[in-house]
Amino acid sequence: MLTTTMTGNAYDVALENFDTAADAMSLDNDVREMIKYPERILTVTVPVRMDDGHIHRFEGYRVQHSMVRGPAKGGIRFHPQVTLDEVKALATWMTWKCAVVNIPFGGAKGGITCDPKHMSQDELQRMTRRYTSAILPLIGPERDIPAPDVYTNSQTMAWIMDTYSMTKGYPIPGVVTGKPISLGGSLGRNEATGRGVFYTIQSACEHLHMQLAGATVVVQGFGNAGSITAQLLHEAGAKVIAVSDSTGCVYNKNGLDIPELIHMKALVGHVEGFPESEPITPSQLLALKCDILVPAALENTVHAENAAMLGAKIVAEAANGPLTPAADRILESKGVFVIPDILCNAGGVTVSYFEWVQDEQHLFWEAQDVYNRLERVMKTSFRDVLKIHQERKVPMRIAANILGIGRVAEAVQLRSIYP
Ligand code: NAD
Repeated sequence: MLTTTMTGNAYDVALENFDTAADAMSLDNDVREMIKYPERILTVTVPVRMDDGHIHRFEGYRVQHSMVRGPAKGGIRFHPQVTLDEVKALATWMTWKCAVVNIPFGGAKGGITCDPKHMSQDELQRMTRRYTSAILPLIGPERDIPAPDVYTNSQTMAWIMDTYSMTKGYPIPGVVTGKPISLGGSLGRNEATGRGVFYTIQSACEHLHMQLAGATVVVQGFGNAGSITAQLLHEAGAKVIAVSDSTGCVYNKNGLDIPELIHMKALVGHVEGFPESEPITPSQLLALKCDILVPAALENTVHAENAAMLGAKIVAEAANGPLTPAADRILESKGVFVIPDILCNAGGVTVSYFEWVQDEQHLFWEAQDVYNRLERVMKTSFRDVLKIHQERKVPMRIAANILGIGRVAEAVQLRSIYP
């Protein structure tokens, strides 16, 4: 079991990051009060008949942080460590993220505290459907649109879409994104987060005059976001020297064969034991000297106690909230260039937006069209954030927050207060 120490509360981090940016932009106090906190929070009981016949009660959440700029948007996480505070933090970040890439959505997030690795497909299906029916009053293509997150996938989205559609009496594919292609999913959605991370890394290398070909890379977390980022970096000629998942870390100083590693992970479910690699500990992984570190697992994996030992020049936050504010300060003093989560991993929600647009229009795009539009959005957003970083002389995270929070603040001031 991989044990990167987790410290702190993600929601405290989200609030602290908000305040830092709001102070830096001298945001009006009334506006702060209106946009800082979640608009709606729902906690639900999810009773599920398990395969052995007994009933297990799970707790689930759906948090809508903001609907100022459009319907709420955000993934659903199934994980033993899900808490309401974690979901509130993730929902908050979704609001600023959608605004950074300038798509017409607000922020939301959902989750169930459960251990999906120890549940059967039938149990997962029953839990997903019961949870969907519990949050049904909140969701819908015009109100709140879930998507996959940690330990949920296109199959989970298919169950949600079906439950919602059966209740309404007609098919409504636009209620979720990240669906299978045959149910109205978008080409390129599955790899969108990793592809977006890759585009922002390309932009960062260009900005820092670094060559991506030959650059050394370490990836923490080898699921959807991490493995696809690793694959694209590998294809671009970078050398991925270490990778971890929840069970272990593997290292090869000459570079790991990423396509083979992805193949093995799909077959056996973990990266441990990969041929031509040696096992290392999570702390050793973070301390490896490399050009680019991609945290792609969970929140708070880089914190006050381990940030100083980081060996990377660029940190590309594929995960949400992997760095605590204390870690940010340490990395800033070391001159590490951080591509903040609300910019770096925004490719997922951007292609989710493309999927929702296609569902609404009943007209579907070619994969290359999706990639081209995604590249444009990610590289424009990177430039927008970089400009604020350079002009205001603030770290990239504060710059991204200034951009996102500023756009939400403008929208709320235009809408004014109801009643
Ligand atoms: P996933 O379930 O596909 O993969 C998660 C991976 O993290 C797995 O390989 C798991 O083994 C690994 N992991 C879990 N705990 C770990 C630990 N302590 N150390 C190292 N590895 C660990 O999830 P995902 O969708 O890839 O999400 C990963 C991160 O990316 C999350 O922070 C998520 O919010 C963020 N993200 C995902 C998307 C998306 O579209 N999937 C979009 C934006 C952000």
